[in-house]
Amino acid sequence: MRARLVAGNWKMHGSLRVNAALLDALKVGLKPSDNVAVCAPFPYLAQVSTALAGSSIAWGAQNLSEHDGGAYTGEVSGAMLKEFGCRYAIVGHSERRALYGEDDARVAAKFVAARRAGLTPILCVGETLEQRERGETENVVERQLDAVVAAAGAAALADAVLAYEPVWAIGTGRNATPQQAQDVHAFLRGRLSGEIAILYGGSVKPGNAKELFAMPDIDGGLIGGASLAAPDFIAICAAARR
Ligand code: PEP
Repeated sequence: MRARLVAGNWKMHGSLRVNAALLDALKVGLKPSDNVAVCAPFPYLAQVSTALAGSSIAWGAQNLSEHDGGAYTGEVSGAMLKEFGCRYAIVGHSERRALYGEDDARVAAKFVAARRAGLTPILCVGETLEQRERGETENVVERQLDAVVAAAGAAALADAVLAYEPVWAIGTGRNATPQQAQDVHAFLRGRLSGEIAILYGGSVKPGNAKELFAMPDIDGGLIGGASLAAPDFIAICAAARR
């Protein structure tokens, strides 16, 4: 049976005070057997690392450079993240693709950089509403996935994490139906070998998590807005328990 994972993506939210309260609540509310990670903004990773030391909650970054070091002002390398205990790095989130011009090649390079540094990439793929309405969903996620397979090799995907995040469902309150998500997850799984974890992301809330996670190819969630409210995130993590 594939392990479940629920990862929170805090996006550009938080403060030292707010993070401390959220992390304290998660440490109390989650079970040691819950497979959970939080992906925080870069400046707060040290705080998260310290606060979560000795707990079962993992943590990750929301981005990393495709380069290992050098004259890249403002960038953060995988090795820097790894040095103080980072486990995951989100790669190819749709906000980075849309707002920061990250194309498939750059996303693939970031995936390879994460692997090189010993991080587990959480690779995001997903279609826009226009692409879905034109019937292009499978072509789009296949193209996004194939770029990474071509750069990293299929074996590098085997123990990574894949997240299907339909762009039209992110932060909109409009989640994919469990069957819509399952259909894409099954398609993605058919493209890959091994037991890769495939998370669903896009307006997951306590009220819809259980039925999404009940689908056979949905192995957990990548949670944006609801990961900022401890009771909601804890309830979503509880919904992922078998
Ligand atoms: C995300 O940012 O990856 C995400 C899924 O956001 P939300 O849960 O808010 O839709």
